[in-house]
Amino acid sequence: MIFLAETYKQLIIITHQYMNLLKNLQDIVTPSRISNDPAELYCYSSDASYITGTPDYVVMPCTTTEVSEIVKLAHMHRIPITARGAGTGLAGGAVPLRGGIVLDMSRMNKLLDIDIRNLQVLVEPGLIHADLNRSLEPYGFFFPPDPGSSEMCTLGGLIANRGSGMRSVKYGTVTDYVLDLEVVMPDGTIIQTGGKVMKSASGYDLTALMVGSEGTLGVITGTRLKIHPLPKARAAVLAHFNDLEAAGNAVSAIMGRGLVPSACELMDSTTIRAVNAYDPDLNIPDCEALLLIEVDGAPCSVESDAVNVADCCKELGAFNVRIAGSESEMKELWAARRLAGAAVTRLSPGKTRVYIGEDVAVPLSVIPEMLREIRAISKKHGLTIMTYGHAGDGNLHTGMAIDTLDEKQWEVIKQAADDIHRAALLLGGTVSGEHGIGSARGMYMTEEHGSALEVMVSIKKALDPYNIMNPQKVGLE
Ligand SMILES: Cc1cc2nc3c(=O)[nH]c(=O)nc-3n(C[C@H](O)[C@H](O)[C@H](O)COP(=O)(O)OP(=O)(O)OC[C@H]3O[C@@H](n4cnc5c(N)ncnc54)[C@H](O)[C@@H]3O)c2cc1C
Repeated sequence: MIFLAETYKQLIIITHQYMNLLKNLQDIVTPSRISNDPAELYCYSSDASYITGTPDYVVMPCTTTEVSEIVKLAHMHRIPITARGAGTGLAGGAVPLRGGIVLDMSRMNKLLDIDIRNLQVLVEPGLIHADLNRSLEPYGFFFPPDPGSSEMCTLGGLIANRGSGMRSVKYGTVTDYVLDLEVVMPDGTIIQTGGKVMKSASGYDLTALMVGSEGTLGVITGTRLKIHPLPKARAAVLAHFNDLEAAGNAVSAIMGRGLVPSACELMDSTTIRAVNAYDPDLNIPDCEALLLIEVDGAPCSVESDAVNVADCCKELGAFNVRIAGSESEMKELWAARRLAGAAVTRLSPGKTRVYIGEDVAVPLSVIPEMLREIRAISKKHGLTIMTYGHAGDGNLHTGMAIDTLDEKQWEVIKQAADDIHRAALLLGGTVSGEHGIGSARGMYMTEEHGSALEVMVSIKKALDPYNIMNPQKVGLE
C-alpha cells in the first residue's frame, strides 16, 4: 500500500514536471514547433532499424540559441534529449529509448557559406547530404563522403555517426573533412571545437571526439567542412566472378598493385539475385560475385588505371569484365549497386519482412575469410544472407529478411547477427564500419575495446553527469 502511494506520488510529480516542461518549451520555441500528439510522436519512435522507443515531446529548433535553451531546460529537469537528423540510421541511434525530448534538427538546414578560396563550406546540421553536393557542383567541387542514403540523410547525422560510403576507399570518411563543429554541450553551453584552418595542433582534438559520438556528448548545431575539386574524369570497371573468395582476393590484389580506386563495391550472388528481381531490366549475369570498381582523376591516368584494374580482375579469375567510361553507363552500374539495400525485400516475396543489416569491417587481407564465415553462418542457421558493400574498405554489409510475424525467425536472425559480429572481431575487425553502435551493437563494445571502453564511459560521465544526452547508446551503460 505504502509502495503504491509512493509510486502514485512520484507519478504526480513527473506529470506535473512534464506539464511545466511544455509551458517552458513554449517560452523557447513557437507552439507549432512542439508536439506531444501521439500520432506525431509515433513518427519519431523509430529510425531505419527495427528498434523502437517513443519520445514525450518532439521539438523543432531553428537556431543554436533555441537548442541551447532547450538543453538547459532538459539539464535542469534531468530529461533525456535525443538529436535526430533524418532518422535513416540503421542502429537505433536516434530512437529515444528513455523517452524525453527528441530534437528534430531538420529545420536547421541552411548552407551558410561556400568559401572556395579556403576550400570549405559552413553548414547547418540539418542540410541533406545530396543538397550540399548539388550546390557545390557548379563550382567544380564536392564533399566526398558518399553514403548510400545521400538523398535522405543529414550532415549532422552523418557526422554524429562517423559515416562514410562508396568513396571512402580513396577520399576517407567524414572524419577527414570536419574542420570545426559548433556544439551545444549537455549543460547548454555552446562551444566551437575547431576553426577555419586546415590543420591545428592546439589542444585536445574535440572535433574528433564529437565526430562519431552519436549525440551522446552534445548536439551539433553547425559545422565547417572541407571540400574537394571534382575529378576531371571517371571510369568504372565491372567484373563478374564464379568464386566469391576470388572476388575478395581481387580487392586486396588491386590495392597491393598501388592502384587507388575511388570506389570498390562487392555484391554476392544472393544480392545479385535480389537486385535482378527488384529490377529485371538490369539483367546482371548469374555469378557468385561482382565487383564494381571506380577510378577517377586526370583523363590519361583514369584510362590506364581502369585497364590495370580490369587486368588484375581477369588474372584473379573474373569473366565478362567491362569498362564503362560514359556517364550514362556508369549511372546504370551505380543504380544497380544502390538498389542492394532495398532489394532484400525480394528475397522472400509475400511475407511481412524486416531488413536487418549488419555493418562489419575487417582488414583487407582477410576479406575472403570473412566472406567464407558469412557463408558458413548462413548455412548454419538456414538463413538467406546477402552480402554486399564497400569491399575496398573491408566494410561488408549483410542483409537478412525475415517474416516478422514468426517469433522463431527473430531468434534465428539475432543468433546469425551475433555470429557475424563475433567472426569480424576474431578476424581483427570492428562491429561497425560506418553505421555506428546506437542501441543495436552496444553488447560488443567491451569485446572490441577492452579497457578503452572505460575511458569512453569516463568522458561521458565528465561531460554529461546526468546522462541526459541520448542515454543507453554506444554501449556506455
Ligand atoms: C538505404 C540506406 C543506405 C545507407 N547507406 C549508408 C552508407 O553508405 N554509409 C553510411 O555511413 N551510412 C549509411 N546509412 C545509414 C545512415 O543513413 C547514416 O548513418 C546517416 O548518416 C544518418 O543520418 P541521419 O540524418 O538520418 O541521422 P539519424 O538517423 O537521425 O541519427 C543518427 C545518429 O546521429 C545523431 N544525430 C543526428 N543529428 C545530430 C546532431 N545534429 N547532433 C548530434 N547528434 C545527432 C542521432 O542522435 C543518432 O545517434 C544508410 C541508411 C539507409 C537507410
